[in-house]
Amino acid sequence: MTKFENADLRDIYELARNICLRNRIPISQEIDTVTYKNVRSYWGKCRKKSDGGFDIYINAALEDNRKAMLNTMIHELIHTCSGCMNHSVRWKKYAAALNAAEGLRIRTAETEKDTGVKARPPKVNYAVECENGHRLERERMSLLIKNPEHYICRECRTRFHRVL
Ligand SMILES: [Zn+2]
Ligand SMILES: [Zn+2]
Repeated sequence: MTKFENADLRDIYELARNICLRNRIPISQEIDTVTYKNVRSYWGKCRKKSDGGFDIYINAALEDNRKAMLNTMIHELIHTCSGCMNHSVRWKKYAAALNAAEGLRIRTAETEKDTGVKARPPKVNYAVECENGHRLERERMSLLIKNPEHYICRECRTRFHRVL
């Protein structure tokens, strides 16, 4: 049984898994956990464990971007196919087949440049929080960062203040 950090991750995983299976991509049945990670070094990661199972990590920054999350999830699921732990010829063949059949944009980090998706998540240089601690992070200076008190939190309608 796969364990999921939350229902959103489970939904995206099920969708990604169905897309792989209906295209006969031989992904592993042994996915143990699917969790978010707060990291800057990758969008997704597939870790093979000594018992043969896999853990999949998805960058928490993708949380609000279902399309990017789906592409990343499929990217990681392809890594669970035999001979696909690296971006091998076989990994690329599966990715290309899915891209063609399903209109997806599964890429390796090296080719993410031409998709407009950054290979690495943005650096957090600035941050604001509302009174209830809902946080927005930015790489660059912006009006929100300059005048956070002019903005209201979408989730709880309180004002922001600068915390970083
Ligand atoms: Zn990869
Ligand atoms: Zn709030």
